[in-house]
Amino acid sequence: MLAVFQASELASCGGTILGIEEELRGKLLPGCPDLLARLDLTVDTGTEIRITDLKTARARWSPADLESASGQLLLYHELIKPLASGKTISLEFAVLTKTKVPTLERHPVPVDPNRLARTKKTAERIWQAIQAGNFYPVPSPMNCSTCPFREPCRDWKG
Ligand code: SF4
Repeated sequence: MLAVFQASELASCGGTILGIEEELRGKLLPGCPDLLARLDLTVDTGTEIRITDLKTARARWSPADLESASGQLLLYHELIKPLASGKTISLEFAVLTKTKVPTLERHPVPVDPNRLARTKKTAERIWQAIQAGNFYPVPSPMNCSTCPFREPCRDWKG
């Protein structure tokens, strides 16, 4: 996997690195707590600020994987916008597979205002549900296998 990463164009970032694992915090949603983001890689290419989020995955990402993950980067976009001095901000996921023959694929994420509005509204509603104590198990093959609350979750009686 490391060899594949080193051989990829991502290994030479193509600009000035502004941050690695850089934390940004800011208020994006009225009535909600600050949003805390950790940006894996932020690069100034000279013409734009590029935010790359690195993922490892069991398989190559499908368009549906990309679609369901894109909200994260759209929120990062909003957090970094005030710091970008008017430069264009581009977003991408770089997905390195843990397959026998690993692959590294870069997936650009377009800044779609409708999708951003939907993501913000979703976060707002989730915060309202948290405040109302509206908790219940939401099993998913992706999250449950690594969840530290599996036992109490199994014993949960409502
Ligand atoms: S095991 Fe964890 S991730 Fe799965 S439903 Fe329960 S709390 Fe959610």
